[in-house]
Amino acid sequence: MAHTPQDPAAQAARIWADALALLKHNSSLTARDKGWLEGVIPEAVFGTTIVLCVQNLATQQALQKDLSEQLLHALNIASGVNMFPAFKVEPKSFSNTSSEPDTPVAARPAREDFDVRTAPTVADLGQDSYRPDGQSAPRPSMQSVISEPAPRPMPPAIPEGTFATSRTQVARDPETHLNKNATFDTFVPGDSNRFARTVALAVAEGSGRDFNPLCIYGGSGLGKTHLLNAIGNYALVKDPTLKVRYVTSEEFTNEFIEALQNPNQSQGQIAEFNRRYREVDVLLIDDIQFLGGKDATLEQFFHTFNTLYQANKRIVIASDVPPKNLKGFEARLISRFESGLPVDVKPPDLETRIAILRMMASMNHANIPNDVLDLIAERFTENIRELEGALTRVTAVASLSSQPVTRALAEQTLQDFFTADVEIKPTDIIGQVAKYFHLSFDDIVGKGRTKNVSIARQIAMYLCRENTGMSLVDIGEVFHGRDHTTVMHAVKQINQKMQQKQEIYNYVMELTLRLKQHSNDK
Ligand code: ADP
Ligand code: MG
Repeated sequence: MAHTPQDPAAQAARIWADALALLKHNSSLTARDKGWLEGVIPEAVFGTTIVLCVQNLATQQALQKDLSEQLLHALNIASGVNMFPAFKVEPKSFSNTSSEPDTPVAARPAREDFDVRTAPTVADLGQDSYRPDGQSAPRPSMQSVISEPAPRPMPPAIPEGTFATSRTQVARDPETHLNKNATFDTFVPGDSNRFARTVALAVAEGSGRDFNPLCIYGGSGLGKTHLLNAIGNYALVKDPTLKVRYVTSEEFTNEFIEALQNPNQSQGQIAEFNRRYREVDVLLIDDIQFLGGKDATLEQFFHTFNTLYQANKRIVIASDVPPKNLKGFEARLISRFESGLPVDVKPPDLETRIAILRMMASMNHANIPNDVLDLIAERFTENIRELEGALTRVTAVASLSSQPVTRALAEQTLQDFFTADVEIKPTDIIGQVAKYFHLSFDDIVGKGRTKNVSIARQIAMYLCRENTGMSLVDIGEVFHGRDHTTVMHAVKQINQKMQQKQEIYNYVMELTLRLKQHSNDK
């Protein structure tokens, strides 16, 4: 999906508004259940985690225990990915805020009582959930909890990880923040990454102390984050007593800002922030380039770095450019980075790409013919994430249409995605849908309720949802001010019908292709 980038708070507000609307219409929830949802305030989205602020522990527990299935389901539909909530209990801030679920975070007073590391209030439903007795609640399997959206037949609609669930679904450990599925075992070596892998392994084993800091750099989707996590996971296998922490530079920045926010307690909170980072044995910091220009955070990071470095603790950094090309960093920090070992990861060669696909297929117990693996490996050369996405789409389309995975099916499925990403406007969608069904633009957005018009309208809404970054509310506006629940219903209906009726599936596929071609022609 070509979503427009949004700031984390706006993204959270949008997703929560949609999820809440879904939950309110969920007939399996009682009025009491729905009551728990009233005081939830969305704060921010980080990757696949949405931070939700709740008034008290009871609310958190109700959401985590009794409503977890429905909540995960709603978040999944509203965001299009498997999104997990993390909770913060914030009693004080609620007295001053509206209980509107989408109150922007900026409008709320600073918090006083949240501690990212120690707070028992931060729990991830997708992980072992927090329980006050310190026990871990059994983790609900995503497969059993989320029955829809099932892998959807349209390529852009298939959420990342649908196919490669066991490996790519991000399951971050609440303490270390490591993705336990990203290990050296699942990292396929090749000429493009062999050196990086070797030194990463040495650092993880503890023998590579000279490579401090280790800086792994290279383009997007080439395995930097995977290696960072593999280092952390392996270091813990070697020595479970180690304190390991994986953090993205964005998370680091947010935690730092969080610590600064409350003037009364900021000293204490900064001390706590410092302690949290300066006591680790292995610090893994991802996407460091995003710290560029953030002077206060960089200053803080510089001190953290020095403390760890002087204590001979292991530091591993991932960046999209070589350290010397980092923008907005002081020379002293760059020279510290360069004093370690910079290693790059490059796009994998054909053999490695095939080996990676083969491993992904075998981990998912999918029997994919060699000519299909070859086709994907030939077409996707620059980015392993895209390689993985292509395999996901092909297998999902095959399974949804109950066809075997063949080269012809793969060709057809991927054809559209060899073209560059294009921006599709809602008016283009409505125009194309109208033309396709021999209707007028006004028929699609108007009030007519004949069967033909209704289905065309639902398809148009579905296509808007899948091909633009628009919220349900905004889509409703385009369709002459319809309510967002109508749009939501349409999306759900089409999702279901595409799986039940080949005809509907074909309409949607064909229209998607036309829309992309049409936009490319411009
Ligand atoms: P980056 O951080 O460089 O953008 P990631 O580490 O997130 O890239 O990798 C993108 C995807 O490709 C992840 O799902 C990762 O597990 C997978 N991947 C990357 N390199 C390899 C590899 N050598 N073997 C297997 N999977 C890989
Ligand atoms: Mg990464």
